[in-house]
Amino acid sequence: MATVEQAHVEQASASENGGKPLGDEIQVENPATGQIVATVPDLGAEAVAAMAQRGRAAQPGWEAYGFDGRARVLLRAQKWLMDNAEQVVSTIISETGKTFEDATFAEISYAGNAFGFWAKHAPEYLGDERVKSSQLLVKGKKLIQRYRPLGLIGVIGPWNYPLTNSFGDCIPALAAGNSVILKPSEITPLTSLLMAEGLRECGLPENVFQVATGRGETGAALIEEVDMIMFTGSTRTGRKVAEAAARRLIPVSLELGGKDPMIVLSDADLERAANFATYYSMQNAGQTCISIERAYVEEPVYDEFVAKVSEKVRALRVGAPGGPGSVEVGAITFPPQLATIEDHVADAVDKGARVLAGGQGSSQGGGRFYEPTVLVDVDHTMKCMTEETFGPTLPIMKVADADEGVRLANDSPYGLASSVFTRDTERGEQIARRIEAGATTVNDAMINYAALELPMGGAKASGLGSRHGAGGIRKYTSQQAIVVTPKLALKREPHMYPYKSRTSRMLAGMFKLLYGRGKRD
Ligand code: NDP
Repeated sequence: MATVEQAHVEQASASENGGKPLGDEIQVENPATGQIVATVPDLGAEAVAAMAQRGRAAQPGWEAYGFDGRARVLLRAQKWLMDNAEQVVSTIISETGKTFEDATFAEISYAGNAFGFWAKHAPEYLGDERVKSSQLLVKGKKLIQRYRPLGLIGVIGPWNYPLTNSFGDCIPALAAGNSVILKPSEITPLTSLLMAEGLRECGLPENVFQVATGRGETGAALIEEVDMIMFTGSTRTGRKVAEAAARRLIPVSLELGGKDPMIVLSDADLERAANFATYYSMQNAGQTCISIERAYVEEPVYDEFVAKVSEKVRALRVGAPGGPGSVEVGAITFPPQLATIEDHVADAVDKGARVLAGGQGSSQGGGRFYEPTVLVDVDHTMKCMTEETFGPTLPIMKVADADEGVRLANDSPYGLASSVFTRDTERGEQIARRIEAGATTVNDAMINYAALELPMGGAKASGLGSRHGAGGIRKYTSQQAIVVTPKLALKREPHMYPYKSRTSRMLAGMFKLLYGRGKRD
């Protein structure tokens, strides 16, 4: 198998100079050690255009594989991923600084499942559908709804989950019969390059999947070349992507930021709620779009909940990840993110919040870390309650009742995911329906993401469209309606020229008979 380093060399030579001076490169840093682990080319617009040309040329052949042929390649890739899980995990860790568990539970397990899921469900979601119509004018005709691959898909991804969020969205695009160019974050390109090697080994035809390494400009250049753009990242960049897609009038799907609320009612299983608050706010060092970013707790159980969470958070070990079980919380992957976390904590403290755990950054071993942090006495004048922190922090706010919790949960420009904890699951479900979010879990958090059968997407400023479920693959296609009239058809249909009084009256009468039998009550 080729190494990641070899992949870089191939990518670099394939790009030639890509419209940029030779030697234009991006250094990839291990955020847990500060060491440079690789360099990748920073591709310019010309290189991206050349990739697009190759991707387009390869697409019809891939589409012709059909669902079965494409599934065979995806299932081989599933096996490849599990056979090479150690190498993929160590590559993810080397560019993100996340723990072994964060790389394994939230990345390998996701992609392993996703290869099999899309291989199996693509025909079900995209197969031709025979449709029946209640319209008199099409009686006797064969009506087909068909999903046609769009052609060349651009996927632009963030740095927090190089396998799940960048590469993961390529799997349904490929299963639908498209070619794909993936632009991973400049911070974390190595996993994507490794996956390209893996797919090649599994028999994916050349140029059906390509990786365009580079910075924001490379992403912008990609949007100019593709037939559809799947973007995951910040709301700020998402708006730019949507504008660029609108100029070209291509479809766009946006998975953006979040400020996910957790509501804890006084009848909740507090031990479970505290464990979930701790895990799902600190997992991946809080750098997850659907991590718990703020908690609202009913007054009668507030003190006990805060005590439990603070104790659990103080027990977490932070540092450079070793093997399994070495630390709970890894590095802060993206350098500017540390300043955002520090700013949110300082702003809260300035406005009267208290820090019950953590509250400091650290650079042990040359890495970039932030202590798992619990904040109380917080309110919505503070950034930590209203802006995406994307770090290992949990601000907890006391509320009078569930209604106040729901009102504050909805007091946000974001609407990605959310959670409610209560032993009364029926009430929990009712509350879930009142929260303006793409997903709400009752007595759980984040786990909706793992169920690929469910749509995953954001409300409000958290996105447009969704991944997973039928919509998560149909977005990579255009719908075509096919109407077939049998060969033994009339030479002229009754509604056509020349108009004749008798026929027109008869048709008008039939419409009334068919559609006019209802009531106006
Ligand atoms: P960014 O928006 O900064 O970047 C996302 C990607 O867009 C990167 O590959 C970036 O390249 C690229 N990019 C930057 N500028 C442009 C441009 N003008 N045109 C096209 N592409 C561009 O997000 P982050 O990488 O910082 O990711 C963190 C964010 O992602 C958080 O807000 C998080 O909530 C969100 N996210 C959302 C998820 C969801 O499912 N809703 C899942 C995971 C994360 P480069 O990095 O090289 O600058």
